[in-house]
Amino acid sequence: MMDAHSHLCMNTQHKRDGGSYYFTTLLDSNAKRAIQGAVNAKSMLEYGFTSVRDVGNEGNYACVEVRRMIQSGEIDGPTFITAGRIIAPYGGQFALQPDKQNLAEPEYFFADTRDEIKKAIRQNLHYGATVIKLVIDDQRYIYSVDDIKFAIEEAHAVGVKLAAHAWTAAGALNAAKAGVDSIEHAVAITDEALAIAKKNNVSITPIPFTERDAVLSGNPGGNKEANEQMFIDPVRRAHKAGVTMVWGPDVIYNTQEFPRGKVSIDTVDEWKMTGIPNLIILQALTTNAAKLLGIEKTRGWIKPGFRADIVAVRDNPLEKIETVKDVVFVMRNGKVYKRQ
Ligand SMILES: [Zn+2]
Repeated sequence: MMDAHSHLCMNTQHKRDGGSYYFTTLLDSNAKRAIQGAVNAKSMLEYGFTSVRDVGNEGNYACVEVRRMIQSGEIDGPTFITAGRIIAPYGGQFALQPDKQNLAEPEYFFADTRDEIKKAIRQNLHYGATVIKLVIDDQRYIYSVDDIKFAIEEAHAVGVKLAAHAWTAAGALNAAKAGVDSIEHAVAITDEALAIAKKNNVSITPIPFTERDAVLSGNPGGNKEANEQMFIDPVRRAHKAGVTMVWGPDVIYNTQEFPRGKVSIDTVDEWKMTGIPNLIILQALTTNAAKLLGIEKTRGWIKPGFRADIVAVRDNPLEKIETVKDVVFVMRNGKVYKRQ
């Protein structure tokens, strides 16, 4: 199984941070975030995620170091794809104040011109990013279709994919038209944009809004409406339009009771609420994710010549999809990490 939208080097604390990861990035040191990344990587593997893509808020390349330590065998974790710093229009995803303009660093590169976009991508690649994450909207000024195409060309020139955060309908439309590899969230994506995404071979990674998150935030029931409007509805419409969907629940928290891997896989309950076929959910978790992560030539299928990344569950997921919450066996690269 694979998670294509994670933030392993960040852990938002509901009470302290009030749901705002802006505060998390200000209050947690990058040293702490690197350690969290190592802990979370192990947790993801334990819950059956053998490959994970991190899409930024990575604590100044802490996730790159986590990836290198997994690769060298010093720590346990999934195959890891990491975005480094997020590239965004001025201000990124925060509301700054003029006296403290640098508070969004090093979470973001602010890149408004073509030169800035090119430089941000190249700097990211130099420091070890293996995917580029572009925030399309979140400010009043958003990237144009041509801006996004420019960024895609720059990333694809070195074989790296581009993930586009789009929270608005306009942002998702521009991303679909430009032909990004994935539209993240796509909470307000229109049918028009979905049709273009289908034509341009663009995947989407929808995000569930869970009751657990609402309870931890002290607001039971508070996510119900958001989940219906921004997850269930777009997923149903994307399925109808034949758009490729990829697992990527955008988990930014974990507690001792709810480790990171559990928080991610438990969102299968929200996927089940959409009523789409279990096969589609399973493909989002496996083969579709492998293609989006760019590892489909070696992972994502169980067949000769592929790396032995195999998990086992108790029931047939095509009949009972929630069985993926109960992984009893995990093998990555032929090495067994869990056996019950
Ligand atoms: Zn995210």
